Amino acid sequence: MNNLREIAQKFKTIRDIIVTENEEMSRHFSFKVGGVTPLLVEPETTESFLECLNLAESEKVPYFILGGGTNIVFSDSGFDGAVISTGRLNKVEIVASEGENVTVRALCGAQMNAIVNFCTKNGLSGLEEFCGLPGTCGGAAYMNARCFNREISDVAENIEYADLCGANSTYTQKILNPDKTLWSYKKSPFTDTKRVVYAVEFKLTREDGSKASQIAEKAASFMKERVDKGHFKFPCAGSVFKNNHDFGAPTGQIIDGLGLKGTAVGGAQVAPFHGNIIINTGAASASDIKALVELVKKEVREKKGFELEEEIIFK
Ligand SMILES: Cc1cc2nc3c(=O)[nH]c(=O)nc-3n(C[C@H](O)[C@H](O)[C@H](O)COP(=O)(O)OP(=O)(O)OC[C@H]3O[C@@H](n4cnc5c(N)ncnc54)[C@H](O)[C@@H]3O)c2cc1C
Repeated sequence: MNNLREIAQKFKTIRDIIVTENEEMSRHFSFKVGGVTPLLVEPETTESFLECLNLAESEKVPYFILGGGTNIVFSDSGFDGAVISTGRLNKVEIVASEGENVTVRALCGAQMNAIVNFCTKNGLSGLEEFCGLPGTCGGAAYMNARCFNREISDVAENIEYADLCGANSTYTQKILNPDKTLWSYKKSPFTDTKRVVYAVEFKLTREDGSKASQIAEKAASFMKERVDKGHFKFPCAGSVFKNNHDFGAPTGQIIDGLGLKGTAVGGAQVAPFHGNIIINTGAASASDIKALVELVKKEVREKKGFELEEEIIFK
């Protein structure tokens, strides 16, 4: 790997890109933890996004893609490489309309909530369950985010992505027509691969009259449920652990049943109001969160015999 200062200069030669050196990263994550990254790059067009990825590859710079940062615990010691943020790639538009069938295309950095609002304003139904889901559509596609029994694979028509799997030495544009067999619970064809999502097309239905006004009501009811569950009370990353049918109960209930709600390590605490959420009570570090995750896993392993699997991602 070349010197990161030199690499920063190379990133700066790409058009339509913002390069920030030595960025304090905690404000970029919903958990509000994490150290400094030497290089934060924010492409503003899909072309500059592809150029960034190809530059990082050719210069052998370690990098990762940052969406909304709502499912990540970013290390206290930062990331020794480039963080490529999609936040400025946020255009949302209608790209096809035939009768009641409408396709909305969102660039990967568009917030899911902004996409739901766009649909509501345009009388389009289909995404209401995702109202209030923090983060971007690129991150949601990567995670196959699931809200109120609806997953991204249920609502995406096409995913445009750049691929470095197989023999390609550069990222090129491709389109995936979601094949349900490639998706599963909290797993997509992008998870743990070198495929990068740059746009998602959603299939929606145009509603008229009273049905159109019900879209906003339905979306608001899902948002209310999140608010009532305490999702936005403290910095967090939503559910910490995946659910598993074999456990016979939701993971939150299992953790609750062991009396672990309220357990704390430093500033990280198992939410007093939800067993499967860890909150930052003010001064948590990433290592506090990691230690608390390990503590909960150990308790569940020893007392119930189940091995919990993290949904949150440690970087
Ligand atoms: C209060 C709260 C409630 C939540 N509720 C839910 C919920 O109901 N259901 C649910 O599923 N999740 C939930 N989450 C978790 C989180 O919001 C989702 O997983 C979300 O989809 C992550 O999107 P993001 O843009 O923030 O991704 P990030 O956290 O930025 O990234 C997550 C992963 O996706 C990768 N990634 C991001 N963008 C791209 C891209 N364009 N191409 C390839 N890889 C990419 C990242 O590298 C990383 O590996 C919740 C989180 C919070 C804070």
